[in-house]
Amino acid sequence: MIRVATSIPESFHPQAEYVFRFFSHLWGIPVSVSRYRPQAEKPDIIYSSNYQHRDQGAVYIPFNKQLYDAACRCDSVECDGLRLWSEAGAACASHDLVGSSYRLLTFLDEQQVPLDCLDRRGTFFSHALPVPRQQTAHLPLVDYHAQYLLQQLTRSRPDVVRSVVPKWPGGKKYAIAMTHDTDAVSLGAAKELATNLAKFVMQRDRTFLDMFASGVRYIGQPTGNPFFGFPLWREFEAHRQVRSCFYLYAKVVPLRNDINNCKSSVVEQRIDWQILRRLAADGWEFGFHAPIDSESKLESFVEGKRWIEEKLETPIHGLRHHYLALNWKQPHVSFRQHIDAGFRYDTSIAWKDIAGFRAATCHPFQPFDSEQGKPLDIYELPICLMDGNIINDTIDVSNSIEAGLGIIRTVKEQGGVAVLDWHTETACNAYNYKNYLTVLRHILEPLLEDGDAWIATPWEITQHWQHRSVKLEAA
Ligand SMILES: [Zn+2]
Repeated sequence: MIRVATSIPESFHPQAEYVFRFFSHLWGIPVSVSRYRPQAEKPDIIYSSNYQHRDQGAVYIPFNKQLYDAACRCDSVECDGLRLWSEAGAACASHDLVGSSYRLLTFLDEQQVPLDCLDRRGTFFSHALPVPRQQTAHLPLVDYHAQYLLQQLTRSRPDVVRSVVPKWPGGKKYAIAMTHDTDAVSLGAAKELATNLAKFVMQRDRTFLDMFASGVRYIGQPTGNPFFGFPLWREFEAHRQVRSCFYLYAKVVPLRNDINNCKSSVVEQRIDWQILRRLAADGWEFGFHAPIDSESKLESFVEGKRWIEEKLETPIHGLRHHYLALNWKQPHVSFRQHIDAGFRYDTSIAWKDIAGFRAATCHPFQPFDSEQGKPLDIYELPICLMDGNIINDTIDVSNSIEAGLGIIRTVKEQGGVAVLDWHTETACNAYNYKNYLTVLRHILEPLLEDGDAWIATPWEITQHWQHRSVKLEAA
């Protein structure tokens, strides 16, 4: 047990407790957090706004109110070989690791993105971030904070790390969750045909003509067309003992039209549901891929979930927003809707254009509701790597593979979860998805070979993390 005492303004206590709970889950060591009392048993860590607490023989973390303010200008600095996030110009000894972890887990630095850089959905490209945050977007800074603090603590209390609750089952060092957003299921769908023809006419790119020609052969019969990726993924993954999760795009209630919403989905295409049901029966997971504008109607989440469950004849527990278009300004508003619709985890937190760690962690976490001052009853499994982040016509395949392996190496170092997202339709490895499967194969094969990773579905990982957290908190 690590004892933490706080001496900070009362209104910041829930945030501090939230961060220490998260650190406890990363360390695998129970933590107790209480208000500082001079007569009480000596704490191991003091989080305080009173500098006199510095000399109590505990690890001292100075409270910095500024860090809880979205306007605070932050930067990273290296301390004991680890990159930490703090108020710009702060020295290592005066870092408030709790405040800076809170601001990263609640995306406060993103509030500094200029309004004219936000698109109609409130999302932005990583280059719109404040420069220091942009430069650290590929680092799990909060995980480094936890590691740094534990290093400080073990100098005076080496015994704390003697019995830690293992992070993953079977002695595995980290976890990998393979996922697929199902944005398109048939090249022969009317909207796909029209789009590909229009793109060919406008861009003069023969790829789109090939896609159109291929689509014509599958009009009215989606099963078997190149975009119907389910059987291809089954073969690719079963061969490697991988079970993944498919998030099915399903717009089943009227929503505002958006040009980026999907053009062929499992709802209006007459697909063979037996293929999907068999996948579910054999250990693959399914979830909901929420259409753009879902947040305008709670019903869209409720009905989308129900519709998929009825079709699959099995319950689903997780979701991911199409275009990652949850409420970027106030993610807790979206998370509340997820909870109200009965979801147990979300996996929509990612940078939209680059690989990396938008919540500055590669671990599951409960998002914090800043209005209610408490963690929400749902888990977030942040994505670290999407197909489009590292693959396009201008990047050499070997560079794509190296970039993907680099991100997963970072996750492995921290013992976190690498959530990968390869779209269902990319399994064709052709047309505008040329080399997508090839790159994935070269990323996964060395990782599967060394046996260090627990390969699990997002729901399995969520349940494991929740059980472990409950155990740590009951200790
Ligand atoms: Zn999507």
